[in-house]
Amino acid sequence: MTNSTIGVGLIGTGFMGKCHALAWNAVAATFGEARRPRLVHLAEADQSLADSKAREFGFAKASGDWRAVIADPEVDVVSIAAPNPFHAEMACAAFEAGKHVWCEKPMATSRDDARRMLEAQKGSGRVAALGYNYIQNPAIRQMEALIQDGVIGTVNHVRLEMDEDFMADPDAPFVYKNGAASGYGALDDFAVHPLSILWRLAGPVSSVMTDQAKPYASREGRRVETHEIATSLLRLRSGASGLLVANRAAWGRKGRIAVQVFGSAGTIAYDQERMNEFQLFTREGDERTQGFRTVLTAPAHAPYGAFVPAPGHGLGFNDLKVIEAHELLAAIDGRPARIVDFETGFAIEETVHAMARSHDERRWVDCPA
Ligand code: NAD
Repeated sequence: MTNSTIGVGLIGTGFMGKCHALAWNAVAATFGEARRPRLVHLAEADQSLADSKAREFGFAKASGDWRAVIADPEVDVVSIAAPNPFHAEMACAAFEAGKHVWCEKPMATSRDDARRMLEAQKGSGRVAALGYNYIQNPAIRQMEALIQDGVIGTVNHVRLEMDEDFMADPDAPFVYKNGAASGYGALDDFAVHPLSILWRLAGPVSSVMTDQAKPYASREGRRVETHEIATSLLRLRSGASGLLVANRAAWGRKGRIAVQVFGSAGTIAYDQERMNEFQLFTREGDERTQGFRTVLTAPAHAPYGAFVPAPGHGLGFNDLKVIEAHELLAAIDGRPARIVDFETGFAIEETVHAMARSHDERRWVDCPA
């Protein structure tokens, strides 16, 4: 069921809104999509910002009220790139209006809202994808394929770290991410991303033991309500053990998502700060020459070749969103797609809520199956 175009609505035009706009602009040229996105209607918090962003991004209509995007009959799919507390209301309204949804992570700021979103999506029969762009990296996809092919044997331990330093400065101003309305902090802002990778590489989590930390109790005289650091022991449903650390106050770390998967026959490792390569160790061969080898991504690692024909030239962060848009369009057209849908997204949400409970109750907590 392909039309020649698909009408796109966008809510929010900050960091992620621009990333979605770039992706919608690039996806047809990159992948030769059957459907060409039509940039129909964009919303911002006020009309003048919406007007100027619509001009910059190439959207035909602009509104200071997000409901106008959802009510627009020319819009088929809505990108939700507004702050976390808006996700549930916007997504549910979009499903009610019969739109497909591409919603930024985390799904919501409460378990009830996330469940409401999942139910609204199921009831609507529309497609939904969450903004877990890192799983789209050709390097991560290749790691997943190698693990599935048994190249590192049976996975027995996974270590995940996500570190950035935008909350590292104790003198930085109080921002909405320091308030409880934004969620838990490191858990739903950060931990969800490595969890989305974990789901692909080693499967779901069955139980967690978590400690959250708040290095700075106040900013500009206001009490900080979120935690910048979360450390979790994990037990995976496969039986493997794991460790996840998320830290928004890690001086010097700019976009680190470090993943190490240890198996019975080898190890595979990746760091988002060097997103165009991964490291592979297999125990075969002469012990004197064993060691990690660096694999640079290349056209052999789909869908790298859709962007560049030359190996080792590299993709960037925004390209991951182009791949995500391509996958979402495949899902909308009923083709197999590699997206984090609301079902898996909700399971990831359940995991971070279990982590928060574990911290509060100082004990291991099971994640709902
Ligand atoms: P941002 O502050 O840069 O942008 C948010 C935009 O939403 C702003 O332009 C703001 O004016 C607009 N907005 C606020 N209220 C609005 C309303 N009622 N109607 C319309 N627009 C409104 O924030 P961001 O960093 O782009 O984060 C947005 C979302 O993206 C968050 O949920 C965040 O968790 C997620 N995010 C995802 C990634 C990723 O890698 N997938 C990275 C960063 C942020």
